[in-house]
Amino acid sequence: MEVFRFYTRSPLRNFTYILRNPEIGKTLSIDPYDSVPIRKFLEEKGWNLDFILNTHEHADHTSGNDGLVKEYSPIVYAHPGAIGKIPHATHPVKKGDRILASQNGHLEILDTPGHTFCHVCLLLVEEGKRKAVFTGDTLFNAGVGNCYRGGEAAVLAKTVLEQFYPMEDEVLLYPGHDYWGTNLRFTLSLDPNNRAAIEAVKEYETFAPDEEFPTNDLALEKKINVFFRCKDPSYDLQEKVFQKTGTRWNPNSPEGFFVSLRALRDKW
Ligand SMILES: [Zn+2]
Repeated sequence: MEVFRFYTRSPLRNFTYILRNPEIGKTLSIDPYDSVPIRKFLEEKGWNLDFILNTHEHADHTSGNDGLVKEYSPIVYAHPGAIGKIPHATHPVKKGDRILASQNGHLEILDTPGHTFCHVCLLLVEEGKRKAVFTGDTLFNAGVGNCYRGGEAAVLAKTVLEQFYPMEDEVLLYPGHDYWGTNLRFTLSLDPNNRAAIEAVKEYETFAPDEEFPTNDLALEKKINVFFRCKDPSYDLQEKVFQKTGTRWNPNSPEGFFVSLRALRDKW
């Protein structure tokens, strides 16, 4: 599968993705923000747009639908609960469904509530191996989505702990926004001795602003993202969260720790 990432320069720093399965000659756009650059890209490649998938119903993940549907009439997939909320979405998808599928690869739908209750992610599987995950507003580089526009932090905690914690280290992360620098600083505000996060900040500072973005695997994300530390937080992290929230880490409730972290990030 060929993966193209577009930084949209939107106020919320959105990413749009184009995926092409050359085996079947079909093309998908995930979360199109602006139809104009996508159309230009497709014209340069000489490709049609066969499918759109919107990870969830927020307008910054769907605003390109109208222009692309007028031009290409693609099938528009979304969570069943988002049909009627997302412009032109007609085809509901559920956990385990496969799209852009051929013999060697496909995208598998994950049902991932929490940021909203109509949120799906896409897992790229090639030759039987999980290669990458497109996470919309569920998981970001060094962070997770907020829950105050139609979601719930405890539900997002369950989604991340049950579906992303066990995911293989080599899976690449393709999020819906770039909040890398801010999220790393949040991690370090709570876990200042996190070596991997300190190194990641150094790397971040070498990137050209709004030009270069990381493609991290989950091995790194599990170290630099505090929301991945809910089962085994460092002593620093446990103490900082206790100082700020009055709640102690409880090994029996990593979800509770996740919710505390999310509340701190909301105010940060
Ligand atoms: Zn959103």
